[in-house]
Amino acid sequence: MVDSSSQHPTEEGRKRYPDTKGYYPDLSAREDDVPDYEAPCLCTSRCERRCAGECGCPACALSFSVFCDDIPALIRPDNTLDTDAALRAYRYGEYPWLHEEDAGTSPGQ
Ligand SMILES: [Zn+2]
Ligand SMILES: [Zn+2]
Repeated sequence: MVDSSSQHPTEEGRKRYPDTKGYYPDLSAREDDVPDYEAPCLCTSRCERRCAGECGCPACALSFSVFCDDIPALIRPDNTLDTDAALRAYRYGEYPWLHEEDAGTSPGQ
């Protein structure tokens, strides 16, 4: 376990969150324009383009969970997160639950 509050963003982290110099942009504190210093991005160049925090990065983990919060379709009936679907949506913009509605328009299959 890492104590994120004492860590600084990596070089890669500063590239991923340029507006906040590598910290997660805390939208709830937006009025004073303060990034979330508890959540530095610790990503490396080996991370996925849209990292979901697998590397231990608090900024990207937070970003991913905020993303999921906005999509009720990712929550299973037993109230757990459908992580596979969430990752696909987050990284690749795949929203299969939306495609189901206009299945008639897609060719093949
Ligand atoms: Zn990160
Ligand atoms: Zn990462």
